[in-house]
Order: sequence, then structure tokens, then C-alpha cells
Amino acid sequence: MYLCILLFALTLLLLLLFYYYHKISFDQHLRTFIEFNNDIAVITDRMHILVMNQTGLRFLGQKDMNALLSKTRYLSKLIKEESTEGNRYITSKTWVTKIERDHPIKVTISRPAITHTFMMYVSKINSHRYLITFQNISKVLAEKNVMTQIAEKDELTQIYNRKKFNSMLSLAIREATVYATPFTITLFDIDHFKSVNDTYGHNVGDKVLIQMSALVRNLLRGDDLLARWGGEEFIILSPSTRENDAYELANRLRREIELFPFTDVKKMTCSFGVAEFSKNDTAAELIQKADKALYKAKVSGRNKVSIAEG
Ligand code: GH3
Ligand code: MG
Ligand code: MG
Repeated sequence: MYLCILLFALTLLLLLLFYYYHKISFDQHLRTFIEFNNDIAVITDRMHILVMNQTGLRFLGQKDMNALLSKTRYLSKLIKEESTEGNRYITSKTWVTKIERDHPIKVTISRPAITHTFMMYVSKINSHRYLITFQNISKVLAEKNVMTQIAEKDELTQIYNRKKFNSMLSLAIREATVYATPFTITLFDIDHFKSVNDTYGHNVGDKVLIQMSALVRNLLRGDDLLARWGGEEFIILSPSTRENDAYELANRLRREIELFPFTDVKKMTCSFGVAEFSKNDTAAELIQKADKALYKAKVSGRNKVSIAEG
């Protein structure tokens, strides 16, 4: 009888030893495995960080796992979710289980003075081990930003180009149609610009365009969008602005331009056409209204502001 109990206890002990040996060696294998990863990699038991690879520790400025774990045991304390269309995944303690393998989510990880953006992938190893990897996309995003800037800006003046203006105008029209909010556009054109080129040369003409753009951009409010419409014509989109306020703004710009000492040329003036969006206006119709108003300002003597009819 005693022998039976002893044998049973021994078997149980062996099984336990085998189980723990297996578990420890499994974790040891995982530890080795994640070191092969060039991205930040973490093993969790769904809630706690069990191990982070050297890439991750280096990124966070931690000398080893003990240093990291003395700060936090929770991965959610280290990462910040970038919400995509309002979706949130990191909401419960077991959020890891909610993220599907082929649906990475965008997160940021910060260390002093620097924040990087990552795509976070979650892979289930078994019911109590998850592998989480972080692919750093900061460089790709920065390059994309530069490309967007190049695509949206006018090369000479560094203000927005016509293409960007048109896409912002379409957005403004959609918003004004849905929410019935007013907005106004202001088209303006440098007076007698051809004579600047003829008298001082094309380079001086270019310099005037650059200075004019910088001057107006600095005088505008944060919400206003300034673009080069073409040649020596510029256009402003003023959100949530009625024609009377846009008229005031255009007059202020007109006066400031008139007083500004442009290099070489000294004095320049501009003529302005202001048009408020009316329900059912297309982009082309609205621009045509502003263009007609600008024409009126030109024929009535230049250095004037005129409001569109209708
Ligand atoms: P108005 O008062 O009626 O507007 O007369 P204007 O001389 O300003 O108008 P016009 O349309 O006769 O001439 C515009 C000139 O702008 C002609 C063109 O060579 C010049 N221009 C257009 N784009 C540029 C540019 O990028 N650089 C320079 N330097 N000149 C340009
Ligand atoms: Mg002109
Ligand atoms: Mg012109």
C-alpha cells in the first residue's frame, strides 16, 4: 500500500518536473527566438510583459529586463494606440487577445524627447503565450510627409498650389452643404505685374511673387488657406467666413501690400474679388463669381476690393 502511494507520488513529482522543465525550456526557446528579430519583440502571457528583446530594451533605454520590469509589467503602459476611425483596441486587461494576426494596429512608443510610430502585430503562440512585434514605420511616414509637402506646394512661393486648393475647396463645399456653414473665397491678382518683369527682369518678378506670398501668408488667420492660383494670381479659402468679414480681411491685405517695401520694386498693389459660397454653387461657379468680382476691381481702377454679386 505504502509502496503504491510512494510510486504515485514519485510519478506525480516526475510529471511536475517534466512539465516545469518543458515550460522553462519553452520560454527559453522563445527568449532566444525573439532575439533574432530586428524589430522590437515582446512575449506576454496576455497581460504582463514576460520578456522583451534587446532591440526593444535598447529603444526604451533600459539596461535589462529587471530595469524594465521595475518601471512597468504592462505593455499598455509603454504604448499609445493611434486611433483609426475611432476604433480602440487597448481597452481591457486582455486586449492582446482582441487583435487579429493579420490586422496590425498603429501605435506610438515614446522615450525621452522622441516618439516613434509602429505597426503592432500580435501572434498567438498558445493559450498563455503571445508574441507581439513592432515594425517601426516612422521613417516611411516622414518620407510620405515630405512627398505630400512637395505635391501640395508651389515650387517658387512655397504656398499651396492650385491642386491642393481645389481639393480643399471640394471639401469645403461638401461641409458647407451638409452643415450649412458659410465660407468665402478671395481671388487676388498683382496689378501691372508684367511691367515689373519688363522693367526689372524675370528674377525680380519672381522675388516679388515670393515676398508677396510670404507677406500675405503671415497676415492670414490660421484657418485661412492661401494658394497660388497661377502666374501672379492668388486665392484664399476662408472657412466659416461671411463675405463682409472676407471683404474686411481683403481690404486689410490690400493696405498692407500697398505699404510693404518690396525689394527693388518698392511699391506693389493688388486687386481683390471676394465671393461667398451660395447653396448649390459648384467649385467652378464659385471661382467664376470671384473672378468677375476681381475683374470689377481691376476696371474700377485697381488696388480695390470688390464683392461678387449673387
Ligand atoms: P493687371 O494689372 O491687369 O493684372 O496687369 P498684369 O501686368 O499684372 O497682368 P498680365 O496678365 O498682363 O501679366 C501677368 C504677367 O505675369 C505676365 C507673366 O509673364 C508674368 N508671370 C506669370 N508667372 C510668372 C512667374 O512665375 N514669374 C515671373 N517673374 N513672372 C510671371
Ligand atoms: Mg496682374
Ligand atoms: Mg493675372
